[in-house]
Amino acid sequence: MVVVSKGMPDEYFDELEVMSAGARQRYQGRMLEQSISNAYKYCPTAKELLDGVGLIPSKIKKIRDLEKLPVTRKTDLIELQRTKPPYGGMLTIAEEDVERVFLSPGPVYEPIQHSGIKWFAKSFWAAGFRRGDVVVNTFTYHLSPAGILFHEAIRDCGATVIPMGTGHTEVQVRTMADLSVTGFVGTPSFLMAVIKQAEDSGFDFNKDFKVKKAWFTGEMLSPSARKILENKYEFDTRQAYAVTEPGGAIAYECYRKEGMHFMDEYIIEIVDPISDKQLGPGKIGEIVVTPIHNKTWGLIRFGTGDLSSYVTEECPCGRTANRLTGIVGRASDAVKVRGMFVVARQAEGIFSDFPQVSQFQIFVDRKAQRDEMTFRIELVDKETDRGSLADEINRKFQSNCLVKADRIEFVADGTIKKDSKTIVDRRDWR
Ligand SMILES: [Zn+2]
Repeated sequence: MVVVSKGMPDEYFDELEVMSAGARQRYQGRMLEQSISNAYKYCPTAKELLDGVGLIPSKIKKIRDLEKLPVTRKTDLIELQRTKPPYGGMLTIAEEDVERVFLSPGPVYEPIQHSGIKWFAKSFWAAGFRRGDVVVNTFTYHLSPAGILFHEAIRDCGATVIPMGTGHTEVQVRTMADLSVTGFVGTPSFLMAVIKQAEDSGFDFNKDFKVKKAWFTGEMLSPSARKILENKYEFDTRQAYAVTEPGGAIAYECYRKEGMHFMDEYIIEIVDPISDKQLGPGKIGEIVVTPIHNKTWGLIRFGTGDLSSYVTEECPCGRTANRLTGIVGRASDAVKVRGMFVVARQAEGIFSDFPQVSQFQIFVDRKAQRDEMTFRIELVDKETDRGSLADEINRKFQSNCLVKADRIEFVADGTIKKDSKTIVDRRDWR
């Protein structure tokens, strides 16, 4: 059912997107309880998981209750499928009823019954895909789920889909021109490659092409790439966060482009990747996903390894779900300083806003039972006011990472070797 919002510049795909916090809690609690009891009944691995911590399914009714269960990570899935082939004891239906099997690196085999999956469409709907649009889907159609699942979701919005797959930029360009394509689905870097191919072939991209809607996942859209695509090539861009194991796009942007709304068909937790405990809004942790509509396999608390945080503030678009902020890195690249995660990629993003800095490196030590963080910085211009620069960097760091440096050292050129690690953890835990 489509609810048209009144007085808003946006339209919703379903009523779940605008439910109240209380209604969402009840809805997700009910779906969670059903899906856990279904997994417990039919899937031996889920039963072992609950029995292992002495829980019965009816004890898991709220998001908070999931904390009592361990997180299953990619390495666990690979091991489970190796020891209990083919699906790791996680299948909740008869093997002969599996419609499709996708493969993700590992390998991990993901059994899918597509019938009834309509919710991915929300993400494309929020990106403006409608009947009358002609969309190229440039995700691969073999083995990985992105091609077929997104294809069907775009169709659910009423648009025509061209199953392009990846590669063949010349064919992509020709098709986009000949069929007056209006929408692009793929990665930002691939769209840039297609634009370059078009320009190299003598096209004027803005004049000769109608494609103006772009939907991305698979890699984060950098603010600079977004600016180029929107200002120079007149695209309206949206991004979504998708994970294959729990089955698809789990968070998506609205026209405000200020974070990705959680999809109500998944429970999304942000957890401390060491203790697996839930973290509150604004804190960086690992994204953990539990599908509550998947009736095919009993995956509970899947740890994605991606680091992000979430915000709970109301979004002017009218959608009421919390929003995931950008992916700041991988859990394996993060270092915890006084209880907060510092991630190399995020630190690089912060320092890139300071053109006075030519190189930097972060050291983490432990002194007197306290973590100490030191920034080592090389300057472009030796005359720079070091005191005010240090204050500015620390202020920015604190507001992004919720922790700041204890010491900022300005060092001579060449002290920081090229290609050295961004964050050096010198703590000795022995
Ligand atoms: Zn919104």
